[in-house]
Amino acid sequence: MNKESIKAIHDQDLEMLLERLGILPKFKNGKLKCKFCKATITSENLHSLFPQSGDIKLVCDRVECVKELSNLLREGKILL
Ligand SMILES: [Zn+2]
Repeated sequence: MNKESIKAIHDQDLEMLLERLGILPKFKNGKLKCKFCKATITSENLHSLFPQSGDIKLVCDRVECVKELSNLLREGKILL
């Protein structure tokens, strides 16, 4: 897995995507948290999102979290 597999999400696409996933209201209410550090996810710090265990997980753009995400990807625990 490489960095290209993690798609950058642009603002206009983001709302549509979150809407489709049914988590836009939560996002707007600041209820979505980074899977790793539990920081509140906003359009400013959202790095990527992925499905896991029937749920949508979000990852913020902190270096540590991005590293954790690439570890999971490398180990094949998640698929984007
Ligand atoms: Zn984080």
